[in-house]
Amino acid sequence: MLIVMKPDASASEIERVIEIVETLGFRAHEMPGQNRTAIGITGNRGSVDPAHFENLPGVADAIRVTKPYKLISRDLRPEKSVIKVGNASIGGPELAVIAGPCAVETVDQVFAAAEAVAKSGARFFRGGAFKPRTSPYAFQGKGEDGLKILADVRLQFGLNIVTEAMDERGVDLVEKYGDCIQIGARNMQNFSLLKYVGKTRKPVLLKRGLSATLDEFMLAAEYVMAEGNYDVILCERGIRTFADHARNTMDLSVVPALHRYTHLPVIVDPSHGTGHNYMVTPLARAGVAVGADGLIIEVHPCPEEAMCDGAQALTLRQYETLIEQVTQIHQTISTYEAAFATA
Ligand code: PEP
Ligand code: MN
Repeated sequence: MLIVMKPDASASEIERVIEIVETLGFRAHEMPGQNRTAIGITGNRGSVDPAHFENLPGVADAIRVTKPYKLISRDLRPEKSVIKVGNASIGGPELAVIAGPCAVETVDQVFAAAEAVAKSGARFFRGGAFKPRTSPYAFQGKGEDGLKILADVRLQFGLNIVTEAMDERGVDLVEKYGDCIQIGARNMQNFSLLKYVGKTRKPVLLKRGLSATLDEFMLAAEYVMAEGNYDVILCERGIRTFADHARNTMDLSVVPALHRYTHLPVIVDPSHGTGHNYMVTPLARAGVAVGADGLIIEVHPCPEEAMCDGAQALTLRQYETLIEQVTQIHQTISTYEAAFATA
């Protein structure tokens, strides 16, 4: 059930609806929008009788939701969400760029990358302190020591930190040191972890699972939001297909599909999406052209020495060129979109 309030509904009328939802034993999710507030109801097993709400003052409509997802839906919030991450935001008119190495290795490596990222005008820095590796013998990340280096990057360069957590302890630590909790592809359906990050107040960057369908991806975001954390950013990072010329197949068609059904920002990751240095820039350009709200890019001062994902890391110089190119594409796309909006 979705309660749509009238544009002029007062705060006390909204409060009254929430009270009734809670009296019925359900959870109310208030979503203020540009023109009106909507209230999503979760926690109900069967359908909720619209008669409870439709005659209340301030209520425009009580709509039954037939889709499996509610809170991520454009029905609840027709306009796009802009998510605040640290002192910047994702989903607004600016292209969000999150860049940095795959893994935090050393202070020098991280600071060299951070200097280039800050210089490019990007507002977000990435780097894993907890690495989900296929082999248990591969480098697993520097843990809390790595997070401390990232916190120093924020201090020195003013970049907002996006970093992965793989379990509840990791979430607590990323909350302490970082600005955005990344949930990796391998954990996209770790439902207890999704519920746990849903209880935090830090934004969540949710990466698409290696074989997740559109619905599975959207429902993973719904898990986070159902717990009360509405700040979710979706990330396409490539899926497994029969194609073996790239590490993954970057599914760019999911970007307009996600924008059609959800109000959440969508970014793309051409680094994991392709796995090859020479493919990253072309696919970054394509991602921006297809309407992504941002990019997450792996960059390393010395890719051949990287402890993780060196083959897909850009050099600092390549990264600089990528930014020049995608900035122009983003400007063009924004101009078209503005023209369509006023046409
Ligand atoms: C990463 O961002 O370094 C990472 C491990 O990503 P994914 O979960 O998409 O594989
Ligand atoms: Mn990586």
